[in-house]
Amino acid sequence: MTFEYAPAPESRSIVSISPKYGHFIGGNFVAGTKHFPTINPATEEVLSKIACGTKSDVDAAVKAARKAYVGTWSKMSGKERGKYLFRIARIMQERAREFAVLETLDNGKPIRESRDVDVPLAAAHFFYHAGWADKLEYAGLGTSTKPHGVAGQIIPWNFPLLMLAWKVAPALAMGNTVVLKPAETTSLTALLFAQVCQEAELPAGVVNIVTGDGSTGALIVNHPGIDKIAFTGSTEVGKIIARAVASTKKSVTLELGGKAANIVFDDAPIDEAVEGIINGIFFNQGHVCCAGSRLVLQENIADEFLEKLKIRMNKIRVGDPMDKNTDLGAINSQEQLLKIRELTIAGDKEGAQRWSPECALPSKGFWFPPTIFTGVTQGHRIAREEIFGPVLSVLTFRTPQEAIDKANNTPFGLSAGIWSEKGSRILWASQQLRAGVIWANTFNKFDPTSPFGGYKESGWGREGGRHGLSAYLKGVSHE
Ligand code: NDP
Repeated sequence: MTFEYAPAPESRSIVSISPKYGHFIGGNFVAGTKHFPTINPATEEVLSKIACGTKSDVDAAVKAARKAYVGTWSKMSGKERGKYLFRIARIMQERAREFAVLETLDNGKPIRESRDVDVPLAAAHFFYHAGWADKLEYAGLGTSTKPHGVAGQIIPWNFPLLMLAWKVAPALAMGNTVVLKPAETTSLTALLFAQVCQEAELPAGVVNIVTGDGSTGALIVNHPGIDKIAFTGSTEVGKIIARAVASTKKSVTLELGGKAANIVFDDAPIDEAVEGIINGIFFNQGHVCCAGSRLVLQENIADEFLEKLKIRMNKIRVGDPMDKNTDLGAINSQEQLLKIRELTIAGDKEGAQRWSPECALPSKGFWFPPTIFTGVTQGHRIAREEIFGPVLSVLTFRTPQEAIDKANNTPFGLSAGIWSEKGSRILWASQQLRAGVIWANTFNKFDPTSPFGGYKESGWGREGGRHGLSAYLKGVSHE
C-alpha cells in the first residue's frame, strides 16, 4: 500500500507585487518608459509589468554608479563596506520567506528549492564576502589591490536571486559599484533586493538595477562608462560579449553553458548514485549550467542501474511549484519549453530511446516530464548540446579510459561527477577530466567558499571563494 502526499501549498500572501515596476537607479525607484509583462510560468498568470531599460536608463545607472564609486564607495574602508554586506545578508535572511515565494512565483521552481537552496545560499554569499571586505591583504592577491570601478552584471533566469548574489556580493566587497540587469522573465526578486538595499541604507548608486531584455544587456556591455563585465548565460551570448569587449579595456568574466558527465563506475554504491543522478539532472528542472545532463554509465551495471533509476523517477512529483511536496516545477518560459521539445524530438529522430514516467502535467503553464534517453551516441545532438531541461542522455562505457574520453568529448568543461567506492579511481578520474568543478559521490553542491567556473566554451574566470575575489580586482589573475 502506498500513501499519497496531501497537498501542502505555501501561501503567497507574504508577497506584495506591484502592478508595474521601474528601475532602481541612484538609490531610488524611477519610472520606466516601455514595459513588458512578467508571468508565472506555472499558471501563465501575469504577475506584473517590468520596465525595458533604454539607453538613457543605462546612462543614468552608469552615471549613478560612477558617482557612488568616486564619491563614496572607493573612499570607504573595507571594514565599513563589510558592515553593509552583513546588513544586507541579515535582511535577506529576515525576509527569506518573501524572497522564496516571489522567486517561485516568477521562476516556476519548487518552493522547497527556493526556500532551502536559492535564498539561504544567496544570503551566505553576502555573509562570506562581507568577511573578506576588510581582510583583502590576507587573501594572497597582493597588498594594494584595487577594484575595477563600475561593474556591469548580466544574469540569467535559472537562479535569479542567487546569481545576483554571486555577482553583487564580491563586486561590492572588493570596492566596485554595480549596474545589474536581471533576466527578462525573472526580474522580481532583483527588484525586491533593491528594497533590501534601501532598507540597509546602502549609499545611493552603489547598486543600480536596470531591467530589460537582451538589448538592455547589450547597452550595458557596450557602455563606455563600464570597467568590468560579469555575465552568466548562454555560450552564444557569451561569445557576443567577448567580441564586444575585445577591443576595449573592459575586464570580463563569463560563466556559460555546460554538458556535464556524471560517470558511474561499476563499484559505485548504486542506490546513492541513483539519488545523485536524479539530483544532478532534475534539480531546478535541469535549468542548471552544471547539471549532470550526460549519465556515463559502466556497461556491466547499466541494466540494473537504469531499472532502479526508472523506479526512482516514478516517484518524482511534478506540478504546482508552490506545493511544498513538489520535486519538479514549471519550465521557466514557453521559449525554453520549445527548445527542450526541439532537442528531444531530435533525440527521437537520431534513434535514441525516450522514456518518461507516467505523470499528469497541469493544463496551463509550461511543463516537461522528467525524461531519459538511452542508446545515445556521442554524435547525437542530445549528447552535445545544452538542453537546459529535465532530460538525461545516457551513454555507456566499458573501460575507465573510455569513460574519460566520452566525458571530455564536449566543447564545454564546467562540471563533472564521479561515482565510485575506490578513492584511487576518483583521484585518477578527477585528474583526467577537463571540468572546472568535479564532485565525487555527490552532485550539485554549492558553497560560497568554493570557486566555480569552467574551461573551454563554459567560460572565463571563477566565481566564489578566494579565486572569485580576483575577478573584481584590477590586474589580478582570474585562475
Ligand atoms: P541568454 O544568454 O540569452 O540570457 C542571459 C542574460 O543575457 C539575460 O539577462 C539576457 O537578457 C541577456 N542577454 C541576451 N542577449 C544579450 C546581449 N546580446 N548582450 C547582453 N546581454 C544579453 O540565455 P537565454 O535566457 O536566452 O537562454 C538560452 C539558453 O542559454 C538556454 O536554453 C540555456 O541552454 C542557456 N543558459 C545557460 C545558463 C547558464 O547558467 N549557463 C543560464 C541561462 C541560459 P534577457 O532578459 O532578454 O534574457
